[in-house]
Amino acid sequence: MASPNERLVQWLRDAHAMEEQAETMLSQTAERLEHYPELKRRIEQHAEETRRQAERLKTCLERLNGGSSAFKDAAGKMMGVGQAMSGLFAGDEVVKAALASYTFEHMEIASYRSLIATADQCGDAETRRVCEENLAEEEAMAKWLGDNLSDVTRAYLAREAAPETTSKH
Ligand code: MG
Ligand code: FE
Repeated sequence: MASPNERLVQWLRDAHAMEEQAETMLSQTAERLEHYPELKRRIEQHAEETRRQAERLKTCLERLNGGSSAFKDAAGKMMGVGQAMSGLFAGDEVVKAALASYTFEHMEIASYRSLIATADQCGDAETRRVCEENLAEEEAMAKWLGDNLSDVTRAYLAREAAPETTSKH
């Protein structure tokens, strides 16, 4: 059995690993979106936000650990590394990537809501504030993706229907 404070630290570490994975994923996705400039721009913006989210979580963890910056999230960090790919998206991968991003943002939203409840249980107002800040960015990103999934899909279908562009999407 762990105390709420131990869970808070553990789940903050999980969130930090999630953000490191997100940053890798978003950066790699953005590189492959040459033909989808709006999606590319929004993903690049969120990659930048994600770097700051990870920093905020790190600051929280350091405060809770009494200044120690040692936390074990190397596993989460590695998850994204093996997925490095070059070139543009092939076939319908751009649509799949948009769906995966939408799903990932909702996982982040769920994580921060759970962390906020845990922070409240621990009376940790600063962690609540940080998680609310990150949560607002995840919600904005999820909304943008939700609002733009149809456009991305239509743009993909239009490119696929144009004979001269069928090889690259
Ligand atoms: Mg995030
Ligand atoms: Fe996010």
